[in-house]
Amino acid sequence: MRVKIIKGNSTIKITVKGLVQGVGFRPFIYRLATNHQITGWVKNADEGVIIHASGDSVSLALFVDAIKTDAPAAASILSITTKKLPNGCFTDFRILKSDNNRNAAELTQIGPDIAVCANCLTDLKKQTHRVSYPLINCTHCGPRFSIIKNLPYDRVRTTMGKFAMCRTCHDEFNDINDRRFHAQPIACNQCGPIYKMLAEGEEITNFEAILKKSASMLDGGRIVAVKGVGGFFIACDALKNPTILKLRNLKGRDGKPFAVMFRNTNKVLDFCFADSEELTLLQSWRRPVVILPGKGKLPDGVSNGLKTVGAFLPYMPFHYLLFEKLKTDALVFTSGNFSDEPIIKSNKKAFDKLATICDAVVFYNRKIYNRVDDSVDRIINSKPQIIRRSRGYAPAPVPTTINVTNILAVGGELKNTFCIGRNNSAILSQHIGDLKDHETFQFYSESINRFKKLFRVNPELVAHDLHPDYYSTKFAKESGLPAIAVQHHHAHVVSCMAEHSLDEDVIGVCFDGTGMGDDGHIWGSEFFICNAGKYQRLAHFEYMPMPGGDLAVAQPWRMAVALLYQILGKELVSLNLPLVRSVGMKKIEWLTRAMDKNINCPLTSGAGRIFDAVSALLGLCLESTFEAEAPMRLEDIAGKNEDDLYPYRINRNISFSETIKGIIFDLKTGIKPAAISGKFHNTIAAATCDKIVQINKQSGLKKVVLSGGVFQNKILLEKIVDKISAEGYEVYTHSQVPANDGGISLGQLIIAAKKRSKQCV
Ligand code: ZN
Ligand code: ZN
Ligand code: FE
Repeated sequence: MRVKIIKGNSTIKITVKGLVQGVGFRPFIYRLATNHQITGWVKNADEGVIIHASGDSVSLALFVDAIKTDAPAAASILSITTKKLPNGCFTDFRILKSDNNRNAAELTQIGPDIAVCANCLTDLKKQTHRVSYPLINCTHCGPRFSIIKNLPYDRVRTTMGKFAMCRTCHDEFNDINDRRFHAQPIACNQCGPIYKMLAEGEEITNFEAILKKSASMLDGGRIVAVKGVGGFFIACDALKNPTILKLRNLKGRDGKPFAVMFRNTNKVLDFCFADSEELTLLQSWRRPVVILPGKGKLPDGVSNGLKTVGAFLPYMPFHYLLFEKLKTDALVFTSGNFSDEPIIKSNKKAFDKLATICDAVVFYNRKIYNRVDDSVDRIINSKPQIIRRSRGYAPAPVPTTINVTNILAVGGELKNTFCIGRNNSAILSQHIGDLKDHETFQFYSESINRFKKLFRVNPELVAHDLHPDYYSTKFAKESGLPAIAVQHHHAHVVSCMAEHSLDEDVIGVCFDGTGMGDDGHIWGSEFFICNAGKYQRLAHFEYMPMPGGDLAVAQPWRMAVALLYQILGKELVSLNLPLVRSVGMKKIEWLTRAMDKNINCPLTSGAGRIFDAVSALLGLCLESTFEAEAPMRLEDIAGKNEDDLYPYRINRNISFSETIKGIIFDLKTGIKPAAISGKFHNTIAAATCDKIVQINKQSGLKKVVLSGGVFQNKILLEKIVDKISAEGYEVYTHSQVPANDGGISLGQLIIAAKKRSKQCV
């Protein structure tokens, strides 16, 4: 963006909107202004950062350019606007106090938490008052969202408020040339929060002793709870399988792969494969967990038998200091919670609950205000796809083309996030989790209240899922606000459209697990022609019975039996398939009887369910120990070089009966599961592309939007994108919000805004 160059001295007002608070933006502007001989001032206001800049026109133009090109790494500028002002009389450049106008029409963003920066790691060794200070931070790094209670972002409105700065910190805070100028959470060994450790009935307060004890316990195969940025984590040596299995037992019912924190990038590469995009993401200031192909060197218990590894790098000073003392190069670092409960954030709860399963608890005395779990990403088609959007991302908004003010979208049920609208910003919550859990639901309603207050949104309209029994739907209905019910998969597709500012008819393909359809069946393989206002469902995978309803999601063997019974009838029992042997005739007969009598056998077209069925058929997962385990295991073993496929039929809908028969044939002829899985992925991809081409022939539409949890499957998504891009389609996939239910609140918000703009409500 270039301002017009006018001769002579002039003054302009520059408004910078976006993520510009809490990222060292004002000191950056100050130094930039000084370098360009600009006078005037900068201040934080509710609508963004405001600058009055006076100087010669060339300097002003360069100054405005540099704001965009040289901004701090964690800043994200949405817009820079300039307006000419009468010439001001400034003798220098200043940083003015924050505005705190609660009624301001616009509001700027709150920064996500930023991993400790390289300069702070240097200070950790050299700066006298911060040697080994484990909560070191600066204008460019440190906690943000996790400690913020209100806006504008100033220390008094964070959980750092109760810590008075020492003389040295105070001077640094006020010295414009210091790296910590206006770093709100500034602290040092003299004045900042401190770490403590509870181990073996003892409280350890000496920090060096805490590090040594933690390291020796971890290296010795013990389990230690460690307070992170947005909650507590449970750590143990990632190379000790017995400890890992013990931890799995202690956490209860949890078969999810554990994330692994590696000492450094080289150690990641010892254990995992990573290309340049994956390394960039691993090392980014967001420091997400990145799903990488493993080299098979970690014990089986880490990823619970999957070949992939959820890898990440240290992001807190404490992690770096701990690795200096540790012998192991890899630690399991899993969320400190039990099954579906939210990650524990308070010290007291950690003592009460985590201390029962951990040998020690390491904590500090700064409160976590907003809980933020670790984020999880995966590179698909050379770009990051977010699987869990939390630390490092939340609560950065997604810009919208439509005005979404004062709409609350309550999200789904599992992997819940909610979303509130303010002007043209959709503000997504951090990952909340499964609302069926009582504590998670409390976290949910508390977070909605906090977001309303923090972002000064007063909802006038609420959008919810079509499913009447979701806790989020009930929450929406109890709000007493005008409510709009949104079909689950329409919300998925529109969430992806919103990321790409698409507001037109598209071919929307949603492959998902479950979602209530408007014919009363369970959907999840939709081919829509849709826009944000409406959808037409042109095709789907053929319905299959889901014996036991929700139970069939947790027990993929039920889907396999249901599909075989639907296709083969009674012949199924004479097949002598491994699945039939493992499940046992008694259970099969009982299930087929339930299907004959149509007892609790809703119909589903969920793409996830056919992946479940095939996974169970191959004996990979008969009962899930975590969500989407069966499809993940099927993808995990898929032969990458397989190019063969099974037959399928497309009429109006897509039938995979012939596919299943082909799989049975292969199974009986001893074809390896890896090859079968590869062929199955190819089949789904081919059928999908054929259907897209068919819809294009009817409609002329060339834009294809792919959403839904099944598109977290890297093999499937890459195959489909490659194939249809090669045929000249414009393909849109997710990168800012999850393809899974963590993204649907964004779609709900946009759909509600569209309906409101057409005065349908
Ligand atoms: Zn720093
Ligand atoms: Zn200090
Ligand atoms: Fe979904």
